[in-house]
Amino acid sequence: MLEDRFGRTFPYLRLSVTDACNFRCTYCLPDGYRKTQEESFLSLDEIRRLAAGFASLGTRKIRLTGGEPATRRDLPEIAASIAALPGVQTLALTTNGYNLKQNARRYFEAGINALNVSVDSLDPVTFHAVTGHDKLSLVLEGIDAARAAGFRNIKINSVLLKDVTDRTLPDFLEWMRAEALSVRFIELMQTGSNREFFAKHFISAEVLKAQLLERGFAPAPRAPDAGPAQEFHHPDYPGKIGMIAPYSKDFCKTCNRLRVTARGRLMLCLFGAGGYELRPFLQSDDQRDELRQAIAEALHFKHETHYLHQGVTGSTPHLASLGG
Ligand code: SAM
Ligand code: SF4
Repeated sequence: MLEDRFGRTFPYLRLSVTDACNFRCTYCLPDGYRKTQEESFLSLDEIRRLAAGFASLGTRKIRLTGGEPATRRDLPEIAASIAALPGVQTLALTTNGYNLKQNARRYFEAGINALNVSVDSLDPVTFHAVTGHDKLSLVLEGIDAARAAGFRNIKINSVLLKDVTDRTLPDFLEWMRAEALSVRFIELMQTGSNREFFAKHFISAEVLKAQLLERGFAPAPRAPDAGPAQEFHHPDYPGKIGMIAPYSKDFCKTCNRLRVTARGRLMLCLFGAGGYELRPFLQSDDQRDELRQAIAEALHFKHETHYLHQGVTGSTPHLASLGG
């Protein structure tokens, strides 16, 4: 199992398969996706070799993300090639849900067994304002289609935005009770391109935590290998509420994940600089040992914590470029 200098192990890889996205979320790509370089995202074969290398180093969970991963036509083939690897127990997808209605069954049949769908608001006007698209009902229909296709314990990601989405907890609670979903509220993160937006809209997850405790939610016991989300449960709700609060103390202590960008750069931290090129080691099946060595060596350079509190956001212009 991959281990860093601070004793953290890394069973979890977040793999971006594209930078492109069709939404214009205000905190991520407010002007939409613009092609900045030749679109040479990792090919199906490169992705397969990369995932096989990680799996052989103890990676048990791989999340496909982006950009919007569903904009890749070969997403089912990518998923099937990873699902077939020995050792990979969880193959997850994070999506904005725009094409789940048509494709949920294909994704499920390809071997994706965990699904996160981003829904920042259950109010159609606010959803439109945040994402740039009037597609709340399409996304909700997509979630229904995913359930019908066989996905269980679907998780909803919702970014906390002051004066925008922070008043919608009651809507989410009503939905959770009716549909057995889990919801993860994510603190807005500052990136290279959203400084002003961040200053205006950041709200601490502590505010939400107080609202949850008031409503009778209690912190759920932490599994020993759990990542940085803090979870809350309530007897009346089958699903859990999770909070991802990167600005909270000790967030980095439980870091269990690595990231690879859509062009094959290993990033040791969402807010780190630089990265390590893995693409040269993905050109043939014979390069497995070189790939494994490159990953293990890079891990020595992982820092103990991010430097977000000092306003250092690393080289990430927005999370779409890194696989948030
Ligand atoms: N396009 C897909 C989606 O939106 O679900 C996958 C990629 S997106 C970068 C992954 C997650 O990161 C989404 O839940 C999104 O809301 C979240 N995200 C993006 N930028 C963020 C930011 N600056 N702070 C907090 N969460 C962010
Ligand atoms: Fe696209 Fe996801 Fe970023 Fe929204 S958060 S713009 S859906 S990549």
